[in-house]
Amino acid sequence: MTSLYVHIPFCVRKCHYCDFNSGPHPRALMDRYVQALCKESERAGPITGGFQTVYIGGGTPTALNEGQLERLFNLVRDIIGSNHPKEYTIEANPGTLSPEKVRLMKAGGIDRVSLGVQSFSERGLELLGRIHRSLEAEEGFYMLREAGFSNINLDLIFGWPGQTLEEWGQDLQKVLRLGPEHVSAYCLTIEKGTPISKDVRTGRLTGSDEDLQHKMFKKALASFTGAGYKHYEISNFALKGGRATPDRVCLHNINYWNNGPYLGLGVGAFSYVNGRRYSNVKDVQKYIEKITSGKRAVSFTETLPSRRRAAETLVMALRMRSGIAEGEFHRRTGYSLMELYGPSIEKFRRLGLLSLTGGRLRLTQKGLFLANQVMVEFV
Ligand code: SF4
Repeated sequence: MTSLYVHIPFCVRKCHYCDFNSGPHPRALMDRYVQALCKESERAGPITGGFQTVYIGGGTPTALNEGQLERLFNLVRDIIGSNHPKEYTIEANPGTLSPEKVRLMKAGGIDRVSLGVQSFSERGLELLGRIHRSLEAEEGFYMLREAGFSNINLDLIFGWPGQTLEEWGQDLQKVLRLGPEHVSAYCLTIEKGTPISKDVRTGRLTGSDEDLQHKMFKKALASFTGAGYKHYEISNFALKGGRATPDRVCLHNINYWNNGPYLGLGVGAFSYVNGRRYSNVKDVQKYIEKITSGKRAVSFTETLPSRRRAAETLVMALRMRSGIAEGEFHRRTGYSLMELYGPSIEKFRRLGLLSLTGGRLRLTQKGLFLANQVMVEFV
């Protein structure tokens, strides 16, 4: 399966916890960026066989104005041609949605929206530096529903400084009342150089302790699985399908977790094609200059040695609750799982972090929360 990712690096304002390649930019630069994306995309498509999934992420794609969004959807249409992907997602920030943008998204062929809610607590939204209020997130959700979107993801963050288990429980209840098809619930990581990390360092905020975050993780697990969602990846829950409908998993991310190929367009975007990984320059100005002067914007490229590909295949697959079967690992990498990682697997089995049953390796429930400790050993 091949996926297409398009990066929009613009945000209305930087959130206090964010270290992504994103931020506020002048409107004129946004115009030039969309033009540059169009030019970069001319080289990309149409691709034989087409893309099975398309994902427009950021940043905040919906920070673009209506005209820019329309151009963006047209450029994706030019790349995918008549092969409509199985899934076509856009990320949206509730503070930047409008009925007109939602209408354009629908007309542009988008069939899945990932709404960055993060929290329904006003205190939490303020602390995280989000541009929207709780009510706007709810209104954004209903705006999407009214426009006919039947595949919506809500992004949540838990474990922010000062958040109580009760507050997290209220967020979960709210999400369940709304009933999205998919939920991503991430434990806050305090990244160096962000305003939140400075506040924790100087004692203005007290970081959440790991025990509490673990309880929050377990609460999310119990709430979502109890309400008909399938916990299919460490932080992701999909509404279970019925006889005629599939589980509402995110196909685009599953391709990443399967270590599948993808093409990335835009500033800082990564691509992974035929075992070669490359990425574009991270600076918006430089990206625009390179592309508009007819050059490629690639600034980094590597061909992954087979051992490293095998390690990445394992680490990505372990993120999924289904893990990976020994036979599948061998088919995809050419290596024997136990020959490469036998002692480490054994160690984590003894610690109760990994299980190997019926030839299938996966993280245990305890291992899911401590996944990073396991992954580090394999890479
Ligand atoms: S909206 Fe998303 S990408 Fe933009 S600053 Fe906030 S967290 Fe970062």
